[in-house]
Amino acid sequence: MRGPPPHVPPRNAMSSDPNATPSFDELPLRAELLEVLGALGYEEPTPIQCQAIPPMVAGNDLLGQAATGTGKTAAFALPLLQRLADGDRGKRPTALILVPTRELAMQVSQAVHRYGRVLGARVLPIYGGQPIGRQLKELSRGVDVVVATPGRAIDHLSRGTLDLTDVEVVVLDEADEMLDMGFQDDLEAILDEAPVERQTVLFSATMPPHIDRLARKHLQDPVRITIGRDVAAPGGADGPRIEQTAYVVTRQNKPAALGRILDVEAPGATIVFCGTRNEVDELTETMNGRGYRAEALHGGMSQEQRDRVMDRLRNETADLLVATDVAARGLDIDHLTHVVNYDVPSAPESYTHRIGRVGRAGREGVAVTLVEPRQHRLLKAIERHTGQKMSVAKIPTVADLRARRLELIRAALREELLDGELDQFRVVVDTLSDEFDLVEIALAAIKLAHDTTGGDVDDEPELPDMSLAPGSGGGAGGGGKGQGRTGGRRPPRGQAAGDSARIFVGLGRGAGIRPKDLVGAIANESPVSGRDIGAIQITQNFSLVDVPADRVDAVISALRNTTIKGRRANVRRDARDPNS
Ligand code: AMP
Repeated sequence: MRGPPPHVPPRNAMSSDPNATPSFDELPLRAELLEVLGALGYEEPTPIQCQAIPPMVAGNDLLGQAATGTGKTAAFALPLLQRLADGDRGKRPTALILVPTRELAMQVSQAVHRYGRVLGARVLPIYGGQPIGRQLKELSRGVDVVVATPGRAIDHLSRGTLDLTDVEVVVLDEADEMLDMGFQDDLEAILDEAPVERQTVLFSATMPPHIDRLARKHLQDPVRITIGRDVAAPGGADGPRIEQTAYVVTRQNKPAALGRILDVEAPGATIVFCGTRNEVDELTETMNGRGYRAEALHGGMSQEQRDRVMDRLRNETADLLVATDVAARGLDIDHLTHVVNYDVPSAPESYTHRIGRVGRAGREGVAVTLVEPRQHRLLKAIERHTGQKMSVAKIPTVADLRARRLELIRAALREELLDGELDQFRVVVDTLSDEFDLVEIALAAIKLAHDTTGGDVDDEPELPDMSLAPGSGGGAGGGGKGQGRTGGRRPPRGQAAGDSARIFVGLGRGAGIRPKDLVGAIANESPVSGRDIGAIQITQNFSLVDVPADRVDAVISALRNTTIKGRRANVRRDARDPNS
């Protein structure tokens, strides 16, 4: 219902400095939710959380421009969880969150579950590609928050298995992606089914005219917020000389990637910024396991503990400081050579604060940023803010590590040779030289040195080479009202194993397109090989191609950036994909 929901706690006095970041305690959230945030190790709200939570809790509609990685999931999830009544909540959902892809449905639903577990929130993701039976069972048992792809939501609405009568909030997340994927009609139909007296919240990374039209039609007098766009950095390109490099890596491979980057960079003192206290603790342990002398610094530590850590860093008994932004505020460490953003900071301003720790007093510094494939927009916002381009580098391979290790041994040997004072070892070489060649003896000595310095790189797994693919990380989205096209489908070629998703390519026979043109473009430009491509249908004006669902977004982005038979094509997910 419009207007403030229950459980609006009195707002604490906000800080007197209008530019200061409010703490979570100053946001109008229930004590249980604040406790969850503390337990997750969140130290302060991100800018979007500061701006979105108060109006959402007050019941306003909201139009937010923000990218992935800004903390927007918590920004909308916390206020909607705040609405959940205590005690028996009946079977029908209170909130509906619409997202473009299956992957996002799972991710958002996990996040809402994590934040809302303390309130007993029942959260259900519904998306194409998953057997509908499980979803039906959960829906009939009762849920509070449904996170759905539009196609599957429509499916359930037409079966009468999703009842929106009690929905108080509808969130459209990544609305621009949903429209790009052809979900406009589905979204309109869903919004028409939801009660008129509801709160509607729309988040989009971009605000093209069709998003504006959708917002004008379905949102009432929304509060508008914009995060991380076109704010000029103080100092801009004239700032300190800092070499800025980004590495694209999935969340799960981040610890291994960081270890490798540091192994190859061999930095002096380094500060590694993490988003949460828990992440700080985990990463400190991992890096110590890798042979670094790492120390944690976060807001959960006493002043005495922090002083001890800073002493160890200053007298160089520690070489890595793993910290949250809050804890590292105001720190000045003289011999710092590297700053690592283990998470892309949620606001470009905090990126410049972080990397400003190096490159002081005319020295050169290095800033390393680990970026998840979906965070390309956040990276762009940072580049606009700093006025500098970040180079995207490949994570060092096992071969790079091996070469670096040998390089370090060579440098150490050279120093020993220059130092002299090796006579006491001569007897070993002399006795062995009766039996072996001198070069062989040297090689064996190097092997010994190699084996005793550092672990065996042969045990290191290769990390996949990721790229910043706009919209990457998808899976089959929703779409489809059970009216999939039939006829003309060939059996899938090769081993199109697992789930597949269908893409629409706006070129057909009329443009001279033959199957091999599509196979060639996909196999050459995207991570999908020819044998993984499924059925292909070519009509006069367009073509439909089945590709593995887990790589559909990468295929779409590759085809959008190339030409087929010399022409650019309109490429998107087929909104009526029967696979989803
Ligand atoms: P999102 O933009 O919603 O995808 O969130 C990006 C990441 O930031 C997620 O891993 C969240 O768990 C994390 N996150 C969200 N809010 C905060 C916060 N206030 N402090 C630290 N981490 C956060």
